Amino acid sequence: MSINTVTGAVSADDLGFTLIHEHLTAGMPGWELDPDDFNRKDEVASAVVKLKEIKELGVKSFVDPCPMELGRDPEFAAECASRSGMQVIIATGLYNEALGIPQHFRMMDADAIAEIYTRELTDGIGKTGIKAGIIKVATGGIPGMTASSNAISKAEMLTLRAAAKAQKATGAPILCHNSEVEPYGRQVLDVMAEEGVDFNKVLIGHACGVGDLRYYFDILDRGAWLGFDRFGLESIATDKLRLAGLMGLLAVGYDRIMLSHDAVHCLRGRAGGGFSAMLQGNPKWNYAHISRNILPQMRAAGVPEEKIRNLTTNNPRSYFKK
Ligand SMILES: [Zn+2]
Repeated sequence: MSINTVTGAVSADDLGFTLIHEHLTAGMPGWELDPDDFNRKDEVASAVVKLKEIKELGVKSFVDPCPMELGRDPEFAAECASRSGMQVIIATGLYNEALGIPQHFRMMDADAIAEIYTRELTDGIGKTGIKAGIIKVATGGIPGMTASSNAISKAEMLTLRAAAKAQKATGAPILCHNSEVEPYGRQVLDVMAEEGVDFNKVLIGHACGVGDLRYYFDILDRGAWLGFDRFGLESIATDKLRLAGLMGLLAVGYDRIMLSHDAVHCLRGRAGGGFSAMLQGNPKWNYAHISRNILPQMRAAGVPEEKIRNLTTNNPRSYFKK
């Protein structure tokens, strides 16, 4: 079975070194109502430079799990992919209660939402003909940006069940955003278990900033994947904390983990002002940081090449394989 990239189908065996969670474009819901000075041609050109840079560093595939209501732009992704030669996989699915899930979806049941996800995975997104290759879900908020939620909300529960149904209908994997300060990875797995989803198809994302080994063990022992996918985003958690967790897990025999930065090429709308400050506060938060700085640190600490290959290449292949 093949995997949908924005430029066509590939086999899981051809994914190669995969960054599992990055973004080309993103926008907070409402950005499209506030005209910005977005220059598409320039933004594509500078994204292509960044993609070519990581391609030269050995990255072959780039997953952009931007949810459908957060500035996802399939045609932008397709243009960047075809001009850079990067295999780009985009998502269907919705974001969390705090920032996303428009009311339109909250008034549906899980089957109806799953039908929309399935259509985007099998027929394409809107009239673009570009197919999603992964299903996004999200729980909790964003540290420093949204209030604490205390639990998975009703609307998030709806999207989790819809994602599970679309997963079973299509074989596409599920990638879950979780807050670092209130991570609901365990509860997400409970819902997936109720829905009969194979945990090999579930990635519990943004785990690296949680820094709680018991949380990691609980998720890994159940057979799901962990995303150590915010390297360089040191305003939330330092790379030292992320690396300590990662290398500790590897040292005691766990390696069902995938790596990324959650870096964003361009944020749409006026909110981009705050975003520039965030970029300045996180100078290493870019697509090349793992290849240039994190993997060398791991090698220097004695992590064997075989483990690095699992994190970057073998694990994404197994996760996507249908
Ligand atoms: Zn993200």
